[in-house]
Amino acid sequence: MAGGSGGWRRGAGLLASLLLAGSVALFPGTGASGFGTIATGGQNREHERITRAAVACPEGDDDTCFQARSISQLAGDGKQFGAVGSPDLTESLNPAAHCDDADFLNDGDVQTAAGYPRTRDQATTRLHECIDHLRDRFREAVTDADGLLDANGDIAGAEVDLGNDCVPGAAAERRAKCATLEAFGRALHGAQDFYSHSNWADAADPSRPAGPENPPGLNLPAPSALFDLRGTGTPAIPDGLTTGCFVVPDQPAGVAKCRNRVTHAALNKDTGLVDPATGATSDPTTPRGQVGDNFAKAVTGAIVETRRQWDDLRDALRTTYGRNAGDKMACALTHDDPVNDCRRRNATMLAVVAAGILLLGGAAVARWLIVRRRPRADRT
Ligand SMILES: [Zn+2]
Repeated sequence: MAGGSGGWRRGAGLLASLLLAGSVALFPGTGASGFGTIATGGQNREHERITRAAVACPEGDDDTCFQARSISQLAGDGKQFGAVGSPDLTESLNPAAHCDDADFLNDGDVQTAAGYPRTRDQATTRLHECIDHLRDRFREAVTDADGLLDANGDIAGAEVDLGNDCVPGAAAERRAKCATLEAFGRALHGAQDFYSHSNWADAADPSRPAGPENPPGLNLPAPSALFDLRGTGTPAIPDGLTTGCFVVPDQPAGVAKCRNRVTHAALNKDTGLVDPATGATSDPTTPRGQVGDNFAKAVTGAIVETRRQWDDLRDALRTTYGRNAGDKMACALTHDDPVNDCRRRNATMLAVVAAGILLLGGAAVARWLIVRRRPRADRT
């Protein structure tokens, strides 16, 4: 999520894009949109903190959480955007990457006789574009994971080496772990933004009339059935669901293409403080985020959604490559030294299974001996 152009860290990325285009002078006061990815301009690395709260290892080892170096590649680490921040660098103006522009209001909530300037179908199409975009990223992660294992099914050392940080978006970045995390991080970014940029989990300001600057909130829980990224169907969109129209400048009362529409500025809950260990929130800074528990609900939704997507990715790896290979790939993604740690883990599991077989075998032999010694009439 970010505030300003459609996402939690979009400001810096958008600024970088504009600078690259040599056109920043045309857009003074450029904001960004989505949970934040940087630590300035009102953003406080919300995407990083949400991702850490969702899937980083609390301490020590675990089968499914991300260890220190690995979570930094996925979530970012202070100065590094990380995979989850990548869309703010290279896709900051693509609405599908941040679930923007899927705005709609029912007639009863529009205060003008002309009605809302967009139809439900137009908004639904835009949201499906976001879901399809994130499905592409998710599938890309599953495909890229193939490179984590060599021809023998062992973890390929060069593909998981984190001696140097991953370089998201770089053509020269060839490590399978980095490529997999980048694609997955991009999917996570949009899924997290959805909870900040839409009214799925929030509530309207009860002190103001309904309208484009104060659309009704749906107050729905996470995870959302809309974000089954393994699926291929076309999910039904609730009638009252809206995200925000994004344009520069991003203002609550929309200008240019966003005139008379629900805007990103009015609806987003991009910025505030997120505890990266617990996910607890404080100090929301956007207008919609300051209404009731809206910021906390957006962040909690994004955390729950992130965990669901990681569960789904592990399932997809097993389904695609088989249970053993899929589990090994998940281990390679989460562990900082998977060549050693994931092999040891397999060896440990084998030892446990072998011990179990020995115990069961011993028990069967003992029972056979006992039964054999009893008189025939007592045998059962
Ligand atoms: Zn975003």
